[in-house]
Amino acid sequence: MKNIAVIGAGTMGNGIAHVFAQSGFKVNLIDVSKEALEQGLLTISRNLDRMIAKERITDTDKSETLGNITSHTDTRTGVENSDLVVEAATENIDLKLRIFQNLDTFCKPNTILATNTSSISITQIAAVTKRPGKVIGMHFMNPVPIMKLVEIIRGYSTTDETTRAIMDLSVKLGKTPTEVNDYPGFVANRILMPMINEAIETLHHGVAGVAEIDTVMKLGMAHPMGPLQLADFIGLDVCLSILQVMYDGFKNQKYAPSPLLVNMVTAGKLGVKSGEGFYDYSESRKAGKVAIRFTK
Ligand code: NAD
Repeated sequence: MKNIAVIGAGTMGNGIAHVFAQSGFKVNLIDVSKEALEQGLLTISRNLDRMIAKERITDTDKSETLGNITSHTDTRTGVENSDLVVEAATENIDLKLRIFQNLDTFCKPNTILATNTSSISITQIAAVTKRPGKVIGMHFMNPVPIMKLVEIIRGYSTTDETTRAIMDLSVKLGKTPTEVNDYPGFVANRILMPMINEAIETLHHGVAGVAEIDTVMKLGMAHPMGPLQLADFIGLDVCLSILQVMYDGFKNQKYAPSPLLVNMVTAGKLGVKSGEGFYDYSESRKAGKVAIRFTK
């Protein structure tokens, strides 16, 4: 595999493009929004600058990495030569089904179609294509350039050959792939999201404030980041979508999204990406870095 297309230049898409490009792959980064593409490329550039400051890479590495990335707003042009497409568009099932129907038409017959979905059924996505054996979940963690895990999700029809190719490729990216089966939320979010949702309910019930809840989990459970801060980094809209998929999939009340989470998303408080969630990021966003200030 040489040519990779990444669909979506948001929180995850720009990180995925970054790691492929830094490992020498040619990457077409595709987004329907020109602004998202510009912001995504800026984020990659800033993240590479941070790596230079830490003496992990050189200026030449940075320019080679950026030189490996081309941005596109047209999906067909962006994917037609790709050996692998990694879809990292908004977590919405109808959108993903539409994207995969198009990818199946636009891509070469042997192209592998991967999705970075956090929770949506790989089997359902694969079923809208004529190549279900070549559809797989490639679930990177946020922030992609730093986090080692890639959760590899086999849909019902995903072949051994496709799985092996994506496991091997993940190792080439310096990641540790872990194979799991297709069930709502897979492993990572089936365990993580109920914890985040419970932290939001704990806040909603007035048991403690934002800082106190996060402190308890950081210092008491040795979590590097509190659950509310983590939710802000993931995106509250993404957390809500994942919980809804698990709630629908399991028909179990324990996955019902907190009304506070629903209200915050409805009010446009999405976390880091909107400038405010459980914490306020407005100043740090302007400065191009994320520092934490408390809103409560
Ligand atoms: P995001 O909202 O930051 O970015 C999504 C991007 O997709 C936007 O820039 C949007 O313009 C673009 N987009 C929407 N429709 C498109 C289309 N038809 N073609 C091309 N681009 C399109 O979302 P995100 O947090 O990066 O999440 C992307 C995917 O990654 C989701 O499936 C999410 O569940 C998954 N994921 C997110 C995280 C996380 O921490 N945020 C972690 C792992 C996986």
